[in-house]
Amino acid sequence: MEYESVIGLEIHAELATKSKMFCRCKNDSSEERPNTNVCPVCLAHPGTLPVANQDAVRKVVSVGLALGARVPDTSKFDRKNYFYPDQPKGYQISQYDEPMVAGGLITTPSGKQIRITRVHLEEDTGSLVHDKEGNTLVDFNRAGVPLMELVTEPDMRSAAEAREAAEELQLVFQYVGASHARMQKGEMRVEANVSVRLKGSEKFGTKVELKNINSFKFVEKAIEYEIARQIQLIESGGEVRQETRGWDEAKQQTVLQRVKESAHDYRYFPEPDLPPLSVAAIREELKGHLPELPAQRRERFVREYGLDTEAIEFLVRNPAMSAFYEQSASELGEWLSAGGHDAKNAYKLMRNYMLSDLTRALDEKAVAFADMKCNPENFAELISLIADKKISSRGAKDILLTMVSVGGDPSDIARDLDVFQSSDTGELEGIIKKVLEENESAVSEYKSGKQGALQFLVGQAMKVSKGKGNPETIRDLLQSLLQ
Ligand code: ADP
Ligand code: ZN
Ligand code: MG
Repeated sequence: MEYESVIGLEIHAELATKSKMFCRCKNDSSEERPNTNVCPVCLAHPGTLPVANQDAVRKVVSVGLALGARVPDTSKFDRKNYFYPDQPKGYQISQYDEPMVAGGLITTPSGKQIRITRVHLEEDTGSLVHDKEGNTLVDFNRAGVPLMELVTEPDMRSAAEAREAAEELQLVFQYVGASHARMQKGEMRVEANVSVRLKGSEKFGTKVELKNINSFKFVEKAIEYEIARQIQLIESGGEVRQETRGWDEAKQQTVLQRVKESAHDYRYFPEPDLPPLSVAAIREELKGHLPELPAQRRERFVREYGLDTEAIEFLVRNPAMSAFYEQSASELGEWLSAGGHDAKNAYKLMRNYMLSDLTRALDEKAVAFADMKCNPENFAELISLIADKKISSRGAKDILLTMVSVGGDPSDIARDLDVFQSSDTGELEGIIKKVLEENESAVSEYKSGKQGALQFLVGQAMKVSKGKGNPETIRDLLQSLLQ
């Protein structure tokens, strides 16, 4: 029988505000000293009162506008009551029936549209630390950090689709400046609800919730595994239980965390310590001032630079590299405007150097992109030197290493490294004659008709000339000398 999988996502993202949701404590996910960013408000001392962080409201509204969602004029906070040791109040301030954002849509790069149910604002809990002696310690640095919860409709039909949707939402959060949304830092957490049903059936199957998974790759793997597990269970006459499962990377399988026996009663009621929020003015102010969104950037990159999908995804996922590319392309445009150059080739070179050689040079020198010394003007000049065949791709590699680690003008570096390609045939002839003398067997192979030997000799001459020799010139000279 043929099955179809159904997936809905619940995504939490910590908002990138300076302070916490209801107090003045620092919101700093990199603070490593436990219980440093705490105060009587976020520790829930009796008699303290919360004050809502306006910037957090603005960030959630930005996300709502970016998703084309409805942002009602007013919104309110509610108490969600449950006990957990990392939650000092014994309840969480959240939003129940009047979320800040309702509806909306996310379109993945491959064109799939997924409806958003809602986005609301709440506060994060603290965190528990289990030490080596078996003690559990509690750290309240995270308690009260503004948290956005986004829920999608069960619109996804495969693990890959769910991953793509989650990745696209991450980009939207980052582009509007709502959250840094780094999965590995716990700033973004993805829960996937997965069920299967017979193809053509209207009714959804029982869903399993996949929780506490800290990377997109694992989310995708866990969903894939879960789909197969559920199908197998049904096929062998069993029934899917409503439960929460996690991902065990070592075992490559989902593992039971808890069985949902009954619906939680959170006893929601309106938060009496906070007045309803008027959001209309913030919404109107932010409307029309949204930054460029990832989907818009993709379109523009096709239109302005004619980039291919691989290059676009690389740049769109690295906003800092995106900006660097755009500045470099504009510098290259100025150089091209003088005329006499093959613009298409130059842009293609820039694309290739941006995607591979630059990253490789950064890796080799162990320099982070943010710290590199190469500026867009220098980078564009390097591309122009390669386009003009003044330096070889080998020479360019060495120049790039210096550019990222030390910085400087590529022409100066080329001169220092002595890698300018020489079309001085006298010098090259000397090199080639020497290569011919030292490779007698290759020479006789060539003479007996083996074309591969010529390529070998070109390579040898390139090596000896340290990339200064232009391969075409070397090949021509070699052939005429061999004649
Ligand atoms: P609950 O009441 O258990 O929290 P909700 O209806 O609020 O369930 O949905 C929670 C999440 O689960 C949403 O992302 C929704 O899209 C998804 N979901 C709901 N039903 C299913 C289903 N049968 N299969 C997969 N996902 C589902
Ligand atoms: Zn505080
Ligand atoms: Mg729910």
